[in-house]
Amino acid sequence: MAKRTDLTEYAYRKARRAFLAEQDVCHLCGHTGADVIDHRIPVSKGGSTRDPDNWAPAHGVKGCPTCGRKCNGEKGDKALSQVNAFPTSRDWYAGP
Ligand SMILES: [Zn+2]
Ligand SMILES: [Zn+2]
Repeated sequence: MAKRTDLTEYAYRKARRAFLAEQDVCHLCGHTGADVIDHRIPVSKGGSTRDPDNWAPAHGVKGCPTCGRKCNGEKGDKALSQVNAFPTSRDWYAGP
C-alpha cells in the first residue's frame, strides 16, 4: 500500500485543490473563502505537509474577504492551541 507521503507533486496539488473545493471555511477565523492549506500540526513541529489528515483550510496572502485577516500568515508556526479557535471551525474535521 502506498503511503500518503508518496504522492507525486501533481497528485499533491490535485489533492490540495480538491480539499479546498470541498471545504473553504477557514479553521482560524471561521469564515469562508479559505484559499490555502494550513497544517494542524506545524511542519516545524514535525507535521506532515502531505497528509490530508494534517490539513485545514485557511486564508493566505489574499486575506479573508470577511474580516481581512491573513490567517495563515498570522498563525505562523504556532500550535493550534495558541491561536483562538472558533467554534464554527469544528466542521472541518470529519475524521474517524
Ligand atoms: Zn481566515
Ligand atoms: Zn475571516
